[in-house]
Amino acid sequence: MLGESQIFSKRSQKYVSMLPEDKQEFATQLRRRQLQRQLPLHDLDPRFCNSLTDKELPKYEKFAEKRRKKAAGIGNIGEVDSSCGCVKCHSCKGVMENRCVAVFAGRMVGSCWHPGCFTCKSCKELLVDNIYFYKGAEIYCGRHYADLLYPRCFACDEIIFAREYTQAENRAWHVQHFCCWYCDAPLAGQRYIAKNNNPYCIVCFDRLFSKICSTCQRPITADSPGMTHGDLHWHACPHCFSCHVCGTSLINNHFLLREGNLYCSVDCRQRTLNVHQASLARNYAT
Ligand SMILES: [Zn+2]
Ligand SMILES: [Zn+2]
Ligand SMILES: [Zn+2]
Ligand SMILES: [Zn+2]
Ligand SMILES: [Zn+2]
Ligand SMILES: [Zn+2]
Repeated sequence: MLGESQIFSKRSQKYVSMLPEDKQEFATQLRRRQLQRQLPLHDLDPRFCNSLTDKELPKYEKFAEKRRKKAAGIGNIGEVDSSCGCVKCHSCKGVMENRCVAVFAGRMVGSCWHPGCFTCKSCKELLVDNIYFYKGAEIYCGRHYADLLYPRCFACDEIIFAREYTQAENRAWHVQHFCCWYCDAPLAGQRYIAKNNNPYCIVCFDRLFSKICSTCQRPITADSPGMTHGDLHWHACPHCFSCHVCGTSLINNHFLLREGNLYCSVDCRQRTLNVHQASLARNYAT
C-alpha cells in the first residue's frame, strides 16, 4: 500500500497545484478530511492504533494483506469504446456515449463509471484519488470496505479485531470503550441508559436528564417510574400522582389536569375553585 500511496500523493499534489492559489489551501484541507474519513490512518498502519493488542496484530496484518491483494485498486481515467455495443455505467446504469470520459477499475474488467458515479457503495462519496476497494462486484471506500468485514468501535473509530466486543445502541464498541458519554465510566456489565443513541451511567443520566416532579419538586431518577403529561412530570407513586385536593391516588385512574394540578373529579376541582373564591371574598370584602 505504501508504494501506491506515494503515487496518489504525487498526483494529487499536481492537481492541487493547478488550482488558483487562494483555493489550494482549502482543497488540501478538504482532501485531508476526506482521506481521514475514507482511509483512516489507523486502518492503514497498526502503529497508529491505540486499541490493537499484540495478540490481535496478526489478524490486522492478515486483513491488510487480503485488502492489498484482493481488493485495493485505483480507478483509471479513460475513454469509452462502445463501437462494438452499448456500454452502461456500473452505478447509474445510464448509457455511456462512445468516446466519453469514464473511470475504469482493474478489478472489475468490463465495467466503467461516469466520473461522478465512481463512488463508495455505502457512503456514496466520491473516492479520494479514485482509490477503491472491491468486494462482491461493488466498490467501496477503505472505511466501508473494512466495515463489511469487521465491526468498528464507535468511540475510537478503530477496527475491532478483539473476539469480544460490546454491541449496544446499534453500534459496536471495544469492551473497554463502552463508557458513559459524560463521565467516561466503563459501562460493560453495568446498567446504563441511552439518550440520543449515546450511553450514560445512571448517575450522570439522573444528573443531566432527570425531570422534576410537579408535586414533590424532587428529581425523578432513572430508578423511579414517572408519569408525564405534556411538559409536566410526576413520580408514579400514590403520593405524588394524586388528587390535589383529597389526595386520592390517580395511578390507573381517570384524572383532570387544570393549571398544572391533578384532580380526581370535577367535585374536587370545584372545591379548589370555591376555596379560591372564598379567600378572594375574605381578602377583598368591603
Ligand atoms: Zn453513472
Ligand atoms: Zn464509503
Ligand atoms: Zn475503541
Ligand atoms: Zn457517567
Ligand atoms: Zn414526587
Ligand atoms: Zn380528589
